[in-house]
Amino acid sequence: MFDSLSAKFASAFSSLRSKGRIKEGDLEDILAEIRTALLDSDVSLEVADSFISKVDSRARIALPELNKSTNPSQAIFEIVNSELTAILGGSARRIRFAKKPPTVILLTGLQGAGKTSLAGKLAKYLKDQGDTPLLVASDLQRPNAVTQLQVVGESVGVPVFAPEPGNGVGDPIAVAKAGLKFAEDKLHNVVIVDTAGRLGVDAELMQQAAKIRDAINPDEILFVVDAMIGQDAVRTAVAFQEGVGFDGVVLTKIDGDARGGAALSITQVTGKPIMFASTGEKIGDFDLFYPERMASRILGMGDIATLAETAKGAFDSDTAAKLETKFASGEDFTLDDFLSQLEAMKKMGSMTKLLGMLPGANSGAMKKQLEQFDESELVRTQAIVQSMTPLERRDPKVLNGSRRSRIAKGSGRAVSEVNSLMERFSGAQKMMKAMRSGKGMPQLPGMTGMTGMSGMAGMAGMPGMPGMPKAPVKNQPPKKKSKSGNPAKRAQEEGN
Ligand code: GDP
Repeated sequence: MFDSLSAKFASAFSSLRSKGRIKEGDLEDILAEIRTALLDSDVSLEVADSFISKVDSRARIALPELNKSTNPSQAIFEIVNSELTAILGGSARRIRFAKKPPTVILLTGLQGAGKTSLAGKLAKYLKDQGDTPLLVASDLQRPNAVTQLQVVGESVGVPVFAPEPGNGVGDPIAVAKAGLKFAEDKLHNVVIVDTAGRLGVDAELMQQAAKIRDAINPDEILFVVDAMIGQDAVRTAVAFQEGVGFDGVVLTKIDGDARGGAALSITQVTGKPIMFASTGEKIGDFDLFYPERMASRILGMGDIATLAETAKGAFDSDTAAKLETKFASGEDFTLDDFLSQLEAMKKMGSMTKLLGMLPGANSGAMKKQLEQFDESELVRTQAIVQSMTPLERRDPKVLNGSRRSRIAKGSGRAVSEVNSLMERFSGAQKMMKAMRSGKGMPQLPGMTGMTGMSGMAGMAGMPGMPGMPKAPVKNQPPKKKSKSGNPAKRAQEEGN
């Protein structure tokens, strides 16, 4: 969502980097450029100006000293990074659990903001952490909100307290109170209460939310807001802050192409931290919000910490340990290992999203590649590997023409696809070897201790990774019609 802002930061810094010494005028130019970029991204005027003035005063004081350093533009970059982290809330804030359970979480926000979806995502997140949440259906207004919550609850295995059918029937305050009582009786340690929103801010909505608040005395009131509504997000936040009050913000739909100003303004304007972010319609599209990681993404440095965590979460610990040992002991990376990686990659969700966390993902060339990424290629690649025998997966050298054509038939793919996969695989094997000997890709910050993943990072960085558009082959010599030699080619001749 911060694509255009990121691109503008990148361009501002690239002109600064070309200067050896930075003069006050250069500083003024880059700050003016950043200010315009922020305003274009829907950041409120007040927040943009306060940001610029903080960076300005820090950079100006530091300038004489900075100019003695070998890389003064990097020092300015660091000031911008730290101020950006600060306006995003500084450090991450998590749910505060009540001393005496259950912890009560009340969700508020406009209709369509994504509250019901978020209720399910939050419930899943808490359940995965070992909590025993209960969802309470107090949105009795929006058509189908109760059913939607029931469906979401069932999909994540979290019980839903829904005594009323909704669609305008039932008293949301009574349901919230009864839900809390139910949770106490059944020993749920967290209660998540979904409430009704309206299409716009209105007095009745605020009153109802305030009454529910008073009836259940929540430990956390979370304001759920759609990031796509731009400047309106801040206005709505202020109205909810005055009408109901809240402790934290959940920013939804940050997967959209909105300009991102909401994220950058909301904490400054309301003084409340963004705690979670919703990044898509699927239940797993949910992230804890880390200001420093978000700042890093905006500044084009990627989000390796989140990528590493997602990767770690997708590998079961046995597979990860096995891959680490293999990598460290210099054993060859086999197609079986590759298959485990493909399975983990599928568990990690959208590859486009994941690769978008790599540093430089917003740069022109990589962005183009990501746009052309074909997610279904992962499934096709998996089918090919699964059609191989254990021997073939262990020792791909045995893959002669007839084996390749059998694999192609078994997986319903063309022999040329089997051949191309084998080429990419041997490229990945070489990259792994180079990395092990310290000649290849540097270990990315935050990736230490997850060597098992390095192969995957290698695959990800590799042109021709499954899904990536293939690099055009230039100046290939005319092919000889041979029946001997290259088994890959022979298989193609025989198979097609
Ligand atoms: P509520 O009225 O606040 O309960 O909103 P819903 O949870 O029903 O969400 C409204 C719509 O937004 C639904 O179609 C959701 O699938 C969609 N939605 C929710 N969160 C996200 C998100 O993070 N990204 C995208 N793209 N869509 C979302």
